[in-house]
Amino acid sequence: MEAARNFIGGEWIAATDAAQDINPSNTADVVGLFARADANAAAQAIEAAKAAFPAWSRGGIQQRHDILKRVGDEILARKDELGRLLAREEGKTLGEAAGETVRAGQIFLFFAGECLRMAGEKIASVRPGIDIETTREPLGVVGLITPWNFPIAIPAWKIAPALAYGNCVVFKPADLVPGTAHALSDIIVRAGVPSGVFNLVMGRGSVVGEALLTHPDVAGISFTGSVATGRTIAAKCAEGMKKFQLEMGGKNPLVVLDDADLGVAVDCAANGAFFSTGQRCTASSRLIVTAGIHDRFVQALTEKMKSLVVDDAQKPGTQIGPVVDETQLAQNQRYVEIGKGEGARLVAGGERLSRGTPGFYMAPALFTDARNDMRIAREEIFGPVAAVVRARDYDEALALANDTAFGLCAGVCTTSLKFATHFKRNADAGMVMVNLPTAGVDYHVPFGGRKGSSYGPREQGRYAIEFYTTVKTAYTLA
Ligand code: NAD
Repeated sequence: MEAARNFIGGEWIAATDAAQDINPSNTADVVGLFARADANAAAQAIEAAKAAFPAWSRGGIQQRHDILKRVGDEILARKDELGRLLAREEGKTLGEAAGETVRAGQIFLFFAGECLRMAGEKIASVRPGIDIETTREPLGVVGLITPWNFPIAIPAWKIAPALAYGNCVVFKPADLVPGTAHALSDIIVRAGVPSGVFNLVMGRGSVVGEALLTHPDVAGISFTGSVATGRTIAAKCAEGMKKFQLEMGGKNPLVVLDDADLGVAVDCAANGAFFSTGQRCTASSRLIVTAGIHDRFVQALTEKMKSLVVDDAQKPGTQIGPVVDETQLAQNQRYVEIGKGEGARLVAGGERLSRGTPGFYMAPALFTDARNDMRIAREEIFGPVAAVVRARDYDEALALANDTAFGLCAGVCTTSLKFATHFKRNADAGMVMVNLPTAGVDYHVPFGGRKGSSYGPREQGRYAIEFYTTVKTAYTLA
């Protein structure tokens, strides 16, 4: 089998190394073989992007609009087929995968529109007879480094604004999901991006990622992934004076108050904690529940968990697909043991499951009697594992919610306007949900967090312009 190639400098380029892409629902199913670039290939992509930048950045907004619109239209038209590929290689269910694909298409269409809305400001000078204008200009070559858990939406929310605002792109997808990255890149290429403007460089983080971080011609890095990698990226970007933006982990609280609608709270918890196999940076891994509803909530959630269907991601009826790979599954199970060892009570799930095909199946796990200082309540597990922490009242619940190194999303279930309003104002997180799961956001508004979850300007919506452009202030003697 010939390995699917990288796209560098306007051509599909083979590599000497390649990696297999394995279906986590069925390890006997090889999704494909994908090129793994070396540092030289990454450098060629950066140089091609640099060479393409002057013409692309000045080539006009109609051209950029038309290309992004074509990409968005094709993604939407092929949502089922692309969704099947995504479900097959990443393991989220067909419904989740098609939903993510639609999201990616919508993002391209949103930024196609944004191309036509570039504006600056004309400002009065404090000195008579002088005009001042502020305008936004693209950065140049940007390196986009993405994780495996949203294989099409996250690349879309980086590539679309990068191109819309006139940058040239080197895209480095996660090693586990090259299939979706390749399919998306093929669409972008056929939509007519000029040679060098968009480059796909699949390969290892330590090789291709590293090359992007250290090359002097890369002006900016937009990264989504783990805190550990984010830290390395921040240090290297600072050394090379690159602009950078990091979206990292979460340990998102869902607060359930005594006056919550129990059905709403249980749905929010089950969805937020376990759907997409808990592999979402916005997953609700801490369920902070006040004393008056605690036992009813735990009982109802445990009941609901019994009905959740864990199976092959592509099988109709599956609600929770497999864990992405053996390493992640082992990590999840290690945390289940850590939780037990810390004295939390495992009331549901946690075990490896076997299904009709060899895959990485795991029963969603729920701990009760957890304390907020336990590792299972402090560290990102990134699997279908949630811990219930009991709180006396709203004030303690809010304090526990904010007692974390992360700050991506925080949710509250309540029927009280007073508590909902107070929580929105005082939750120390970039995003707040009231009577909604912590995961599940719109594509046209800013996305991002605080503290250890994020660094730099927000992604998505009109806020994306902050990262992908730099401001110029021009003075003219009139
Ligand atoms: P990861 O940090 O292991 O990898 C992310 C990307 O960085 C991959 O493309 C990887 O190849 C690359 N990389 C690894 N080492 C590198 C290096 N030294 N230099 C440059 N690049 C390198 O993360 P992952 O396991 O793919 O994804 C899971 C993580 O992503 C979780 O922590 C999750 O919370 C986070 N995440 C965050 C958000 C968000 O928006 N906040 C969204 C999705 C996922």
